[in-house]
Amino acid sequence: LRPEPASGKILLLANPRGFCAGVQRAIAAVEDALSLHGAPVYVRRHIVHNQRVVDRLKALGAIFVSELAEVPPGAVTILSAHGVPQSVLREGRERGLRTLDTTCPLVARVHAHVLDQYHAGRHVLLIGHQGHPEIIGTLGQVPPGAISVVGSPADVDGLRLADNIAVAYAVQTTFAVHEAATIIAAIKERFRDVSVPRATDICYATSNRQEAIEGLAARAGHVIVVGDPLSSNARRLVDVSLAAGCRDAQLVPDPESLDGSRLAGVDVVALTAAASAPGEAVDAVVDRLRALGYMPEEVAGRIEAASFKPVSMTPIEEISLDA
Ligand code: SF4
Repeated sequence: LRPEPASGKILLLANPRGFCAGVQRAIAAVEDALSLHGAPVYVRRHIVHNQRVVDRLKALGAIFVSELAEVPPGAVTILSAHGVPQSVLREGRERGLRTLDTTCPLVARVHAHVLDQYHAGRHVLLIGHQGHPEIIGTLGQVPPGAISVVGSPADVDGLRLADNIAVAYAVQTTFAVHEAATIIAAIKERFRDVSVPRATDICYATSNRQEAIEGLAARAGHVIVVGDPLSSNARRLVDVSLAAGCRDAQLVPDPESLDGSRLAGVDVVALTAAASAPGEAVDAVVDRLRALGYMPEEVAGRIEAASFKPVSMTPIEEISLDA
């Protein structure tokens, strides 16, 4: 029998948690570019949604910009894992930038699906959070007006589209699995001709992390999600924990942000980490919880074997919108 912790307080560590293959690939692309070409290299927007990661890459010599117009001609420029609109790729080519596109292959798969459906003459309903960089990138794969973004069943009901048009749907890779299911049901209810994607667009990392914390949240009095407030997949882990029946959950980028007062009287805490949360941040939060008397305990979960080929510095081509 496993000995009980002296304090009686347990910290359940969800598995899998933390970095996914797409985030590791994007960070490695910046590190490799710095060692190959020397500083500075330019990065458009947050390479992944984690300030700690961004600060570390800044210290190594990466310069983060909002738009390509801020990058000197010919400079090595890295595009984020969230994906970018075709107009950004075009601008990079026109300005002669040496561009590395770290768009996660699973986001690129959604781009390809959306483009196929557009060419097939279907209006695309994109299930996601309006304004998120991934959604902006996906919208930018096709001409304006070809996609409608929906974030809830009410959004589907409110669409100013005829019910008899041919539609297809796609899903933001980091969307909540159960929430997406309710929106897909609303789409099928409202439209008669719906093309269903061959595979789910919600990526393995998102669904595995949601499944793992969902299983623990019902047993825990409190859930801690290590991640950046900007990260969509981090915020979904909080939502999933609360929906699974946990009374309280907090999103913490680092140990200093953890609100210990919310743990008063809680014996079982569960912890997970977003796909963009670095291991050192997770370890630091676990150390803080250990100092508060919680004994960490790894909980077995799915084994992830995904890995993606490194990003190569090949010229990136625009996708032709001609049928
Ligand atoms: Fe790719 Fe999923 Fe990771 Fe996003 S969360 S980078 S889609 S593997």
